[in-house]
Order: sequence, then structure tokens, then C-alpha cells
Amino acid sequence: MNQYEQCLEQLDKICQIINKTNRLGKLTCEEVEILKHPQRVIEVAVPIKMDDNSLKIFTGFRVQHSNIRGPFKGGIRFHPQVNLNEIKFLAFAMTIKCAVVDIPFGGAKGGIIVNSKELSESELERLTRSYVRVIVDFIGPNIDIPAPDAYTNAQTMAWFKDEYSRLKDKDVPAIVTGKPIEIGGSLGRETATGQGGFYALEKILKKTNLKKENITIAVQGFGCVGMHFARIAHKAGYKIVAISDSKGGIYSKTGLDINKIIEYKQKNKSVTDFPKAKNISNDKIITLPVSILVPAALENVITINNVNDIKAKIILELANGPISLEASKILEERNILIIPDVLANAGGVIVSYFEWRQNIENNYWQLEKVQSRLKEKITKATNLIWETKEKYKVGMRTAAYIVAVERLRKAIKVRGI
Ligand code: NAD
Repeated sequence: MNQYEQCLEQLDKICQIINKTNRLGKLTCEEVEILKHPQRVIEVAVPIKMDDNSLKIFTGFRVQHSNIRGPFKGGIRFHPQVNLNEIKFLAFAMTIKCAVVDIPFGGAKGGIIVNSKELSESELERLTRSYVRVIVDFIGPNIDIPAPDAYTNAQTMAWFKDEYSRLKDKDVPAIVTGKPIEIGGSLGRETATGQGGFYALEKILKKTNLKKENITIAVQGFGCVGMHFARIAHKAGYKIVAISDSKGGIYSKTGLDINKIIEYKQKNKSVTDFPKAKNISNDKIITLPVSILVPAALENVITINNVNDIKAKIILELANGPISLEASKILEERNILIIPDVLANAGGVIVSYFEWRQNIENNYWQLEKVQSRLKEKITKATNLIWETKEKYKVGMRTAAYIVAVERLRKAIKVRGI
């Protein structure tokens, strides 16, 4: 079963758990059937002229899973391994995530099969603009609002917004979130996912008996999410002993100076060979004997093949879907606490919602307001998921899905089918 099919199976389990308590009266699992089908699946050919004047056609997708609770919302990734099942899974996860943290958006995801590292800056710009042109009829500030994801960034969103605005003959900043500040981005958006994950982690740590001075952390992935999380945790006094990027990882028993590593990575394009640390492989970082493991790169890095080697006590899922469902079950049996992606990395979409509101209202917030509202939202969701976990005697992922599915079922019921 792929990750998408595994999620659908989860839904049936969630429905049975909810129905046992009869909290929602006459609702049936029929509402949940709706969530098993993306509302729209779009596959597009994205043609561009390369720098050498040759023509290349890339394959792109946009999956609009659900707009039951608000416009479709979800990132766009440029990666050679993008495929439709992955995008369907990620779109579904966005529907769940927005419901978990109670923001009025649905779920979507998009991507292009491309190795963006092999394209020049101007080819990437033409690719982004071409993608906008082929999906323009399906998106809009109240229809579907994309954002950055793996291997896309604020610059990609700037090109996206510019192309969409040109096609519509007016300025439409609310068409995407994660934009640069100069063209309607929100303060605090770039750091939001790492920051939100950190707020959720601190809240959970208060519920465990782990002492801050004894905690060690390993972070896999040192991009937008992993780097900011590591920087924030380091600043707050936590000891980060290992980090990695696509080229490999580094380890220091006494702790890494994250600010120095950020400077080092800017110059050297990778964290590997950082002085005062030992190089380790990406496989090794997953199985280190640390208190907290933070997968912040790509999905499916903890599977049935390496799950028994995991030694961490807590896993903070900053990437989307870094643990397969089978591996999740085994980790839960071993009492390893998983703070699930739909909560841990929801800071990004929460501040995206703030950015969208600022664009619509044309009224821009101070950083303090963004961060305090983010903390409020994440804390509320973390507390509710913890209470649900205790009440149903399930893991945090199942608890998060219960919270989301209850909200989605109610919305389906009141809207009507
Ligand atoms: P990014 O492109 O900025 O960074 C990805 C990082 O992962 C890079 O450092 C890359 O070198 C590293 N990497 C790639 N393959 C690796 C491997 N095999 N082993 C170790 N490291 C590897 O992407 P990002 O925005 O930081 O996103 C990372 C994850 O977080 C993705 O799963 C994404 O869907 C998820 N996410 C991102 C946001 C956001 O706001 N950017 C929000 C929610 C979830």
C-alpha cells in the first residue's frame, strides 16, 4: 500500500473510534467516504524554452482534495520524485492539517517532476510561469491558494503571483502565500513551520518527564523548515547533536553551534565536513541515541526497514509523512511519542492563513502579533490533541485525525452533500 492508500485505511479506523463514543449523534461513516476521494485531480504538461533554446516539457500536478471547510490550500514542490500518489497523499494531509488547527481552508497540493538543481534561475522562472498559465483556470484567492514546499521558495511564489496578476490584469497578492515581504508576504512566514513545531514540542515536553538539560536533538534536513527549527531550538538552549542535508550529516556529542553551521552551509552549500564535527550518513542520523528525532526533509524516511533501530523517545515530524503507517504502529507499541506532521508542521499553513488575511484586508501585522497568534493556535491544537489522545487511549496521530475528522464531518453535515 502506498502512503495515500494507508491514509484512507486510517479514516475507517478513525470513524469506528469516533462512532463508539456516539458524540456526533446521527452522523454516519458515509461523510467520511467523501474524504476518501480528492475533489479534483489535475495533470498538466508544462512546456518551457530552456536556456539553449531547446523545448522541454515537464509533467505537473495539482490535486484539490477538499474545500469543505474553505478554499483549497497547499504547497507546490519541484522534485524529480514527485508522483500523483504522493501529491494525493499530501493534499489529503492538508485537509486534515487545516482542520486540526482550525483554520478555514481545505486541502490541496501541487508539484512538477523536475530536478530543480539542474535548471538555471531563468529556467526555473519560466517553469513557474508556465505552470501558472496551465492551471490558471483552477486557482484563485478564494478558490485554491498555493504556497512553497520542498525545492520551491519565496522567489518561486513571487514569480507565481506576478504571472497570475498579469493574466488577471490586476494585482492579486492573495493568490499565493509564502511571498517575499516586499510584495505582500507576512512577517514570520519563513520561520513559521520551524517555530510552530518548536511551540508544539515545548508544550509536549511539559507533559513528559524529560529534563531540558538532558535532552539531545537530531534534525534530518537543513532547509527552510529544519534550519529554522534547529536555530530556534538552539537559541532556546537545547542541545542539537546532529543535523543533515541531502549530501550527508554531521554529529557532535557536545552539541553543534547552529549559527556557525548556517554561515558554513551558505558558503559551502552543505553541512558536511563542518569543522569540530564528525561526518555521519543520513541513514545513521535517523538511528542515533537521542531524546528527540526531527525528520525535516522528505517523506518515508522511517519505514519497516529501519524502525527497529530508532532510539529516540520523541519524534517531531516536521516533514510531511516521514514515517510510514506500519512503522508508526511499531513506534507507538514501543511507546515512542510521535508528534504528528499535521500538528508539528502546521505553523506554515497557520501563518499562510495570516498572510492571506493580511492581503485580503490590506492591513499588515507586526511580527509579535504573527508569532503570538501562531503560538495561540498551535498551543490550543496541541492541548486538544493531547486530551483526545488520553480520552481515546490512542497515539497523537490518531488523536489528531479524530479531531480533524469530527470537524470535517460536522462541516459536511451542515453544508449538505
Ligand atoms: P527545503 O527544500 O527548503 O529543504 C529540504 C531539505 O532536506 C534540504 O536541506 C535538503 O538538502 C534536505 N534533504 C533532501 N533529501 C534529503 C535526504 N535524503 N536526507 C537528508 N536531507 C535531505 O524544504 P522545506 O520547505 O524545508 O520542507 C521540508 C519538509 O517539510 C517537506 O516534507 C515539506 O513538505 C515539509 N513542510 C514544509 C513547510 C514549509 O513551510 N516550507 C510546511 C509544512 C511542511
